[in-house]
Amino acid sequence: MKIIRLHPGKERSLLRRHPWVFASSIAKGSADSGETVRVESHDGQFLAWAAFSPASQIRLRVWSFEATQRIEARFFTEQLRAAIARRQALGLDLSACRLVHGESDGLPGCIVDRYADIVVLQAGSAGIERWKSVIVSALHALMPETRVYERSDAALREREGLPAATGWLLGDGQTQVEIRENERSEFRQSQNGLRLRVDVATGHKTGFYLDQRDARARFADAVRAHQLQRVLNCFSYTGGFTLAALAGGAQQVISVDSSAPALALAAEHVELNGFDPARASFIDADVNATLRRLRDEGAQFDAIVLDPPKFAANPQQVERAARAYKDINRLAFHLLPPGGWLFTFSCSGGVSADLFQKIVAGAALDAGADAQIVARTGAGLDHPLSLHFPEGEYLKGLLLRRS
Ligand code: SAH
Repeated sequence: MKIIRLHPGKERSLLRRHPWVFASSIAKGSADSGETVRVESHDGQFLAWAAFSPASQIRLRVWSFEATQRIEARFFTEQLRAAIARRQALGLDLSACRLVHGESDGLPGCIVDRYADIVVLQAGSAGIERWKSVIVSALHALMPETRVYERSDAALREREGLPAATGWLLGDGQTQVEIRENERSEFRQSQNGLRLRVDVATGHKTGFYLDQRDARARFADAVRAHQLQRVLNCFSYTGGFTLAALAGGAQQVISVDSSAPALALAAEHVELNGFDPARASFIDADVNATLRRLRDEGAQFDAIVLDPPKFAANPQQVERAARAYKDINRLAFHLLPPGGWLFTFSCSGGVSADLFQKIVAGAALDAGADAQIVARTGAGLDHPLSLHFPEGEYLKGLLLRRS
């Protein structure tokens, strides 16, 4: 077993159960990619078992803080079993659900999303890459009715020095499946299980944005409760918020996205759920340009959704991202009459909830508008937040009503 020694003082974050060690904290020791190492303080005290990532600035990711824990196949089966049990205990519908949320589920770098009978694995760290076949066997043992598809194509693989990897790990066949969203949610009076098609091979991320499930239900509720008729859904992807608006009773829903395949699927979803296609229209264009055009035309909406992609992928991009968030939010305020609703999001980890609120406040000020925060939202319960891993909080939403 290889030993990694830290510089004096660098044991502190591990003692607080934070699961990362940066390269600069390491005094001596090295290992192969993904190899399990024993992490010790400068004076030889055991701190954790961790996976070594030679190419990443995050050089160590912790598997366990227990000295007696053995990092072997059984450990991974137990971690997966616990992650699934946690979601069952919360009453989540496991047929469209994030089953493993990386660090917050004690498996750093491991994302597992389930869509109907397909389980999608994203191996985002050297340690998970090393144990991948063990994880696939464990997933199969826990859910024998499922197939396993790999979507390890995210940019974060590069930082780990790992090549992209996609395709079937277990089973084969159709990569498109149908899921039901919010079938058993507490918000069901406005959304009785919307049908959505997810393609795990060609969809964004692992195929779908599961993390916005609760926000979509919340939006359907607001549309229904306040009889919001004209809705503009920006960055619509395959129409999750579009369907929520239609389920809530909106008469006119415009969806804007720059991905033609996503919009085609959104249109398909409108029909699949039995909504009158005349209530929905789609604009294949840049959101910023579309918002400007609509403002110049004097368009007005009762509700606007802004759910952009991650504008800041790292801390260096936060300032530029802040300007981009401010731009779209300012334009959206121009399109809202008093009493209009804005549901605005950021999924950039580097943009804190505080900062996001400041950006949106600045946007309102510039637009000459004022608004109240009716609700704040975050990712659903299948994206848990570990107390010891604040970096896990990335998605925040503000539901605002213009005064
Ligand atoms: N709200 C969606 C998820 C949005 S993901 C849901 O609930 O499922 C972000 C979307 O923004 C993607 O579909 C992407 O194609 C789109 N996008 C990214 N940049 C864009 C731009 N400049 N203009 C329009 N759409 C853009």
